[in-house]
Amino acid sequence: MSGATVPGTLLSRARRLVARSPAAVALAKRVYRSPRLQQTAAFRRFVRSRAAGAEAAVQAGAPPQLWLETVLTCNARCSMCVHSERKMVGVMSMDLFRRLVDEASAWGVDSVCLSIYGEPMVDKRWLERLQYVCMAGMTYSFFSNASILTPELAAAMLELGGWTEVNFSVNGFSKPVYEAVMPPLSRDRVYANIERFLELRRAHEGEVPRVTVSCVTLAENVHELPEFVRFWRPRVDRVSIADRTDWLGELRKTDRAVPVRGRLRVMDDSQPQTPCPAPWRKMYVYADGRVSPCCEDAALRQLILGDTNVQTLRQIYHGPGYAALRALHLHDRRGDHRICGACRVNPPWI
Ligand code: SF4
Repeated sequence: MSGATVPGTLLSRARRLVARSPAAVALAKRVYRSPRLQQTAAFRRFVRSRAAGAEAAVQAGAPPQLWLETVLTCNARCSMCVHSERKMVGVMSMDLFRRLVDEASAWGVDSVCLSIYGEPMVDKRWLERLQYVCMAGMTYSFFSNASILTPELAAAMLELGGWTEVNFSVNGFSKPVYEAVMPPLSRDRVYANIERFLELRRAHEGEVPRVTVSCVTLAENVHELPEFVRFWRPRVDRVSIADRTDWLGELRKTDRAVPVRGRLRVMDDSQPQTPCPAPWRKMYVYADGRVSPCCEDAALRQLILGDTNVQTLRQIYHGPGYAALRALHLHDRRGDHRICGACRVNPPWI
């Protein structure tokens, strides 16, 4: 083992240990986001060295993590999501989807996340897409509200294989809270769908996906989060209690200034903006083929660095849009960018 891999291995072990406990994740986030820590020279040196390492990896040809928005349409209107305020619909064409999967596979991307801002199972061609990903030799993961996850669909997906991870968004424990936060979905149907899926997963003899159940901390659900965690922890691999975000201020009813029990994904004004890892690490291809380095700009979709209808993934990732954005972040000039400068998220480099 080389000296360079030891810290990386220790870091990933530490991350895995922390990720098992929602309380440890919350504590780690609080420490990472502490304005006092972020203002230290050591922290800024750490971020600069991570950005320089990411830049070297891009120059060496390493591909990014890839998200494909197979559908933008969603069947829920969650209170913390822009879908509750704005009509957002769309489906990625099969021709574009196949071309992107082919390109990604040839580029060395081994796994793809098949959702960004819609509910992937509303797509009538969902299984067909999964088959295509598997035939290309890639694995897949996705986020879902589980409202359409019938036992038949779950069984077909388990049989197909290639499914490494699923994150079920379940933003309430009791029926009144769940249904107030995630209308018009039925709490009992969703909980039953997930429980039946978990039974199928236990009975399946081949490889099975890792399951996370996640909940965004909201004023409506914060009082029942301990019960939520107690219920799900013995059933799934990971319970994630996420902080809400304001989607770059695009969600009108989110009060940017008031976190719920100290939990808010966006920074307060006392925190310095640090270089963001997204322009090095990530490509999000929206349902219409346009590409963004992150999903913060989910509603207005103005942070667009290319268009896969007329460019390849590699052309975009190594093209002038990504390069210019990386240069701004690398030189700590994120504030000069119209969108990244207004963004109040400091995604972690760990
Ligand atoms: S700074 Fe914000 S808007 Fe810019 S790439 Fe990072 S997360 Fe996205």
